[in-house]
Amino acid sequence: MDSNGRAWIVSRNHVSQEYTLGLNNFLATARHHLDSDGRTLCPCNRCENTWLQRFPTIRAHILRYGMLATYQRWIHHGESLTDEEEDDHFEDSSNKDEEDHTLRDAIVDE
Ligand SMILES: [Zn+2]
Repeated sequence: MDSNGRAWIVSRNHVSQEYTLGLNNFLATARHHLDSDGRTLCPCNRCENTWLQRFPTIRAHILRYGMLATYQRWIHHGESLTDEEEDDHFEDSSNKDEEDHTLRDAIVDE
């Protein structure tokens, strides 16, 4: 899950084993995020996550044009924007704030 594993995205060598593995990894993730026609947004440098394409086309586009260098987290293909662990932390601290407010209000009332 670390972004170091996404270094292949900016690689210019589209025939390396690393690039092929990375691309397969992306397609495996996107596979869970297809529309009813079996298409999903193509993250290549030409479509820029704007056009829906089928898998063979997406694979060909990425091999030919490369994947968007900025597309390190695949939010259009099933990945969440934030780390879920961080979300839990935020929730915990806001809950504590609320408890403090309740306690302070109670004291002011008396
Ligand atoms: Zn494309």
